[in-house]
Amino acid sequence: MSNPTKLPELFGSRVFNEATMKERLSTASYQAWKRSVTDGTPLDLATANEIAEAMKQWAVERGCTHYTHWFQPTTGVTAEKHEAFITPAGEGKAMMEFSGSELVRGESDASSFPSGGLRATFEARGYTAWDPTSFAFIKEGTLCIPTIFCSYSGEALDKKTPLLRSMEDVSRQAVRILRLFGDTQTKRVVAQVGPEQEYFLIDKDLYNRRKDLRVTGRTLFGAKPSRTQELDDHYYGAIKPRVAAFMKDLDETLWALGVCSKTKHNEAAPSQHEMAPIYTDANTACDQNQLVMEVMKKVADRHNLVCLLHEKPFAGVNGSGKHDNWSLGTDRGENLFRPGSTPSQNAQFLLLLAAFIKGVDEYQDFLRATVAFPGNDHRLGALEAPPAIISIFLGDELGAVVDSIIHGTEYKEANKRTLKIGVDVMPPIPQDNTDRNRTSPMAFTGNKFEFRMVGSSQSISGPNIALNTIMAEELKQFADELEASQNFQEDLQKLIKRVFTEHQRIIFNGNGYDASWVKEAESRGLCNLISTVDALPMYTAPKNVDLFVRHGIYTQEEIKARAEIHFENYTSVLSIEARTMVDMIRHEILPAVSRFAADLCAQADRKDAQGVSHKYETATSREVGKLSDSLFAACEKMEKDLKAIPADAVSAMVYCHETIVPDMAQARQIADTLETLTASDYWPFPVYSDLMFSI
Ligand code: ADP
Ligand code: MG
Repeated sequence: MSNPTKLPELFGSRVFNEATMKERLSTASYQAWKRSVTDGTPLDLATANEIAEAMKQWAVERGCTHYTHWFQPTTGVTAEKHEAFITPAGEGKAMMEFSGSELVRGESDASSFPSGGLRATFEARGYTAWDPTSFAFIKEGTLCIPTIFCSYSGEALDKKTPLLRSMEDVSRQAVRILRLFGDTQTKRVVAQVGPEQEYFLIDKDLYNRRKDLRVTGRTLFGAKPSRTQELDDHYYGAIKPRVAAFMKDLDETLWALGVCSKTKHNEAAPSQHEMAPIYTDANTACDQNQLVMEVMKKVADRHNLVCLLHEKPFAGVNGSGKHDNWSLGTDRGENLFRPGSTPSQNAQFLLLLAAFIKGVDEYQDFLRATVAFPGNDHRLGALEAPPAIISIFLGDELGAVVDSIIHGTEYKEANKRTLKIGVDVMPPIPQDNTDRNRTSPMAFTGNKFEFRMVGSSQSISGPNIALNTIMAEELKQFADELEASQNFQEDLQKLIKRVFTEHQRIIFNGNGYDASWVKEAESRGLCNLISTVDALPMYTAPKNVDLFVRHGIYTQEEIKARAEIHFENYTSVLSIEARTMVDMIRHEILPAVSRFAADLCAQADRKDAQGVSHKYETATSREVGKLSDSLFAACEKMEKDLKAIPADAVSAMVYCHETIVPDMAQARQIADTLETLTASDYWPFPVYSDLMFSI
């Protein structure tokens, strides 16, 4: 797109969106599709056939030969199986065909996707079914149809099905609340999400020379260079031409795919960047974020770059996260987390806020579990943004409002009015408090909550399923209570005060990095689930299983299966990392330092024969020799320990955490010291300063 005035034309040009459907479908079919989106009415076959035909035509005109049901198995990435639009047409000829039943339902052999044991009891085949609420789009000559993925007996095998269920659920409960406040119009409440995506860009040639990056997505070795982010010159810094070219290409590719990519900037660490789209409904946001991650990698490749989405590609510099901005809005465009200007709006806002606070407090352990996986362990609980303890930041103004409601005290506006805060009176809450607390894992930012613990590489589905369901639960409790009330105004005030009082421990406006917070949080009884191994078992805590089963989001089997998948994933990731370390130590590091030490010794001998001093050669070869012995020993220990991983999923995870992680840390520490001693032309792969400062 060389001409920027063409943006409106470019935007969504690869999407079979509502405007295209309106244009290409009969009125009856278009309306049937609309109804299936708004009311969930199933499409009849005739309509499906018409939509399929129109979709195919549209795709073929744009050069497509294939279609795929595009789905999100529990691996957290997307899956696709391409099928050609081809049918024999007699006389040895073929024609392009795509039927309504192919659009609506596909079959897939599910046996190679992790299922956490679900298919031990159920059939191995799964089916995919079109999600008509998410538009089809074209990716590299293939029409991609967003679908859900289920087993034949209906178990969800993917990350989309439970997300859609949770959106329905929170909508239903939120509408009940709105009715209590006299809203008779709103039909649906939509969970809205805007995920900010952080990433690193490095040079492809350098990347290719690092086995750890290629195999695990992060560096397993690397001494800290003389400079990383100390100068604070990268954050919002001028964007370098090569990065700018990448970002432009990324924007245009995303716009064509209907993703509203909005902001781009440099992040805190060298070669770290961020992209944020404009928020949309949670389902679309989740689909599009999967697409964003995929497109980032592909576009980077075109620019001879590699996009790293790992949470911690480099030790010692900031890692990458994904800020999951979440709110609830009505189908009429009202944001339910926007503080109001009338007493009734205030009361509704405070009730919603109370529900959120109560929910996060009661299910903090589950929320923590939704962001628990090995990559994120390097961020959460590792003295980096944000801490592993979940708390909510409200900001000074809203914090003071909540306080004064709890204590029935007066609220003083900064050198202005003194207010007696009830739900009737509320001071203005700044839309966007710029001194917002960057250390908080869950921050109120004017009209939404920003969940900052989500990892940069993970699907945002799990965290949003949790937020939606938790909110649905609390709103349900409130609606049950208030619908039965004889005196709504009075009981509403009481309820808000009661909930704020009972759950105030989860509110924390201080510095989340401070060591004193850990103590304070403990005295408040908050969870401090430092690692994945601590957090994952919360998936199957009875109160959490009960919540999701009660709300029809997961069956008991589904949630257990998902926990199992996460346990296994932890062990797989750790074993792959440890094996890659062993490989690099044995095949690259030890041979290199051995050559280096031998050359130093030879040089020392030569100098000795000439009667010249050789302090550097002698001291360094001795030190390198000692360290390589230690590294060899550490490597052998790791190999031995890798052979002893227990079979049971939970024991394996705990064992990896307690044995393999320290083994890796030990080996890394020795190797990194060796790196600092070894001459550059002997060291077998690019070092941190090459990787971080080469673009
Ligand atoms: P930052 O947190 O970096 O200051 P922004 O204010 O631009 O960023 O918001 C970040 C993200 O939050 C964007 O994706 C934006 O679209 C999204 N966002 C804004 N308002 C809402 C909302 N009401 N609900 C959900 N996401 C929202
Ligand atoms: Mg943000």
